[in-house]
Amino acid sequence: MDKIQRINELVELLNKANYEYYVLNEPRTFTDYEFDMRMHELDDLEKETGHILPYSPTQRVGSDLQSEFKEVPRKRIMGSIENCYDRNELKKWLKQFDENEILIVEPKYDGSSCSLIYENGVLVQGSTRGSGFMGSDITANVKTIRNIPLKLENLTGDESFYVPEHLEVRGEILLPKSQLIKINKEREANGEQPFANERNAAAGSLKQLDPKVTAARGLIFKPYGVYSDDENFSEQYLRRQSYMLETAANLGFDKPYYWIVTKDTDIDKLLDEFENNFLKNQDFCMDGCVFKIQSFKRQEELGYTQKVPHWAKAFKFKQEQASTKVKSITIQMGMSGQLGFVAELVPVEVDGSKISRATLNNVDFIRDMDIKIGSYVFIQKAGAVIPEVTGVDYERNLVENVKTVDFDAPTVCPFCGKPLSRKIDGGAHLYCTYKWCEERNVQKLTYFVKKECMNIDGLSEKTVRKLYELGLVSNWKDLILCKQYDLFHAGIGVKMAEKITNEIDESLSTLGPERTLMSLGIPMIGKVTSKKIIDKYESLSAAVRAALDGTFDVEDVGKVASKSFCDYVKENMDEIKDAIEYLPDEKVDDGIGYGSALEGLKILATGTFVTFSREGIKESIMRNGGTYASGVSKNLDYLVVGDKPGESKIEKATELGIKMINESEYLKIIGIEAGVVESIQESPGSKKKSEPIKSESISLF
Ligand SMILES: [Zn+2]
Repeated sequence: MDKIQRINELVELLNKANYEYYVLNEPRTFTDYEFDMRMHELDDLEKETGHILPYSPTQRVGSDLQSEFKEVPRKRIMGSIENCYDRNELKKWLKQFDENEILIVEPKYDGSSCSLIYENGVLVQGSTRGSGFMGSDITANVKTIRNIPLKLENLTGDESFYVPEHLEVRGEILLPKSQLIKINKEREANGEQPFANERNAAAGSLKQLDPKVTAARGLIFKPYGVYSDDENFSEQYLRRQSYMLETAANLGFDKPYYWIVTKDTDIDKLLDEFENNFLKNQDFCMDGCVFKIQSFKRQEELGYTQKVPHWAKAFKFKQEQASTKVKSITIQMGMSGQLGFVAELVPVEVDGSKISRATLNNVDFIRDMDIKIGSYVFIQKAGAVIPEVTGVDYERNLVENVKTVDFDAPTVCPFCGKPLSRKIDGGAHLYCTYKWCEERNVQKLTYFVKKECMNIDGLSEKTVRKLYELGLVSNWKDLILCKQYDLFHAGIGVKMAEKITNEIDESLSTLGPERTLMSLGIPMIGKVTSKKIIDKYESLSAAVRAALDGTFDVEDVGKVASKSFCDYVKENMDEIKDAIEYLPDEKVDDGIGYGSALEGLKILATGTFVTFSREGIKESIMRNGGTYASGVSKNLDYLVVGDKPGESKIEKATELGIKMINESEYLKIIGIEAGVVESIQESPGSKKKSEPIKSESISLF
């Protein structure tokens, strides 16, 4: 067979196999091995002959790194649809139509909008929604999405159906829920920030300059609109909303989901079914559903207001998120010299509390998420505590015609003016590494004295800064060696100075090496990682030796974090030597013990306990391998209930069916008999001394 003929045959064969596998979800007609063999054969032939079809499956990946996303204009504005959250408002809107009007309901996909342009059936361009009139060209990235056909086919079996010359397909790019779990696991293992949600991850994955990264994310595409200049085609196959969706499927896209709404439809029942059943059973995210007039002709008659169509309305299910405007983006210095970025927001209420600031992780996050000053963004409370930005509210930006300003990433430290480094932690963050940067040193010291670190309670950031400015303390060594009269010199009262020095002494004599390691503020070495390192090496000195002789390796501590630790040790030998000499380096056995009974469990405690202080039970959970949860959620394994527990926590846990245990049950799980509790000391760092356990206080229910 002629080589060109063989190429054409292979392309057809492999595209068909992809369609069956990724769109129809049918098992492959040939094995993965055979698939790979044929891909190799095709690749070789293409290289040999130079004959590469634009829709060849080899064109999905393998594009070179792009340097930027160019802006592309579009013929039809990519508009938005008005939202509502209230069923009555939706019903009122539906009532305005004639009772014979037919509507359809489609899912409101929660991802990134995208427009695909096909010329003579071949995919030539993919772009983001952007401003509506213009979008970013992401062709190389959309080609990696397996359920987007590179070439449209007539799949109807009906010869009168055809692929028009020009065709635009609009839809949403989504990250499957199962993929997010997988990706976040990998990211966490590598010490990278996990994605907050699927929408976030989808947007971030699309705006990758390297299409290989996009390819690896496993994105999918769901169409919701098809447009063509071909009047005959439009009249026959695009005249109704549901026809449009069926036509997309007939050309090679996913089978659509929609429901027809007539005057007899029970809207409440439909929404209940959608929210309680359909929404939960899909592997992709939806945040509501969209009602549209079925007939195109009627759509045209009804027309648009200034920005949104009269013939469509989105009903959004309640989420604990809100949209607000970014007033500015401010920069903070972290304990390790890492710069943090914070969105200063027009205050907005989310889940009952006023939010005016939200963390933006790093400059890549700001760029990937397309966050600009002046733009509307969605705010969500992560783990019900820290607010974070989960995406740009493009619809509102469009409706309110907002002017936005790009955020310029800093090139020098905004505090000391010295150049910034991206070398630490694999390049995710910007760091000030200047040894004498005042802000950096003050933040490092403030972190060092924190409760979770060396627990020197009396020292606030303000006092630390004062000691630093007076030249009394320039690093933590000065601090732990300082005397009461030094503190007195800094304007600290006699009593307070005494308290501080006592606390220093107590911390040094009671804390263990994981606290020492954590207190140093090494990039990426926080509480959990410190514990893992000390669990393995038992002391900081042993971990340092391993770092120096190149054998450092801890299970579940990713490459980037390990490198960060080893680099820090090598580059800061004086500080490390001091840490081993002056700070606790031996594990303290205080009877609470270490173990792995809680491995993989998420636990939260509420109320007061007999054996533990508040911090103590937290520490105990972590020492036994558990994760201390930030709030009650469905992922929680146990709620440990003490005396006078938080009512809302109990209520929520009851509602979610979370297992609640009392203190003695908790002690049993971690392998401590309630009877021997008397000998257990307070958790290190806590000033309260524990009282001997009284038997009546054990039973809490
Ligand atoms: Zn600096």
